[in-house]
This record gives sequence, structure tokens and C-alpha cells, in this order.
Amino acid sequence: MLNRIIVEKPIHNRIVVAKPKIGVAGKTGTWRTEKPLVDNSKCKKCYQCEIFCPVNVIRVDPNTGATVDYDYCKGCGICAELCPFNAIRMEPE
Ligand code: SF4
Ligand code: SF4
Repeated sequence: MLNRIIVEKPIHNRIVVAKPKIGVAGKTGTWRTEKPLVDNSKCKKCYQCEIFCPVNVIRVDPNTGATVDYDYCKGCGICAELCPFNAIRMEPE
């Protein structure tokens, strides 16, 4: 069976999102060799990381900032590369 996705309600009334779910490969966060760490004191809530994360595992709260679901984050580093405010850095695990 392939990885399944479930569709959630729209977040912030903006987009319909799909959330990763455990599949035959287990939780894809186990593939990771580096993890993104968010410094929410630098986060400006621009939503770029949430929009561009290829596995849709970052959520940006307009009050508190960005959080990563490490169960499914694969550590690709795209969020850290694109954050315009350098609020995310990658750290080896
Ligand atoms: S891209 Fe950076 S500044 Fe923008 S919401 Fe994400 S962590 Fe915050
Ligand atoms: S490292 Fe990749 S998979 Fe993990 S939160 Fe950032 S963009 Fe998403």
C-alpha cells in the first residue's frame, strides 16, 4: 500500500491541505539526517515555509510562528533555504 494522505479542512481559510500519514515505509521523518530548527523570534509569519514544504509538514500560526511535524519532515532543507528572514536552520541529527 502506498503512503496515504488525508485531506483536512482549509487552514486560515486559504488552502485545502493534505497531511502525510503513516505508510509501509513508516513515518517518513525517520529518513531525515538533518532537522530544521525554527527560531520564532525571527519568524515574520510570511507563510513561505508552509506553502513550499514539499510534504506539507510546517504550520504557521499567526501569533506564535512556525512549527514542524518531525514525524514526517524528511529534512530536505527547502524551508531553511527559502525563509527570507533566516528563521530556520538545519542541524545534523
Ligand atoms: S518562511 Fe521563515 S519567516 Fe516565513 S513563516 Fe516560515 S519561518 Fe517564519
Ligand atoms: S526540511 Fe523539508 S520536509 Fe522538513 S519541514 Fe523543511 S521543507 Fe518540509
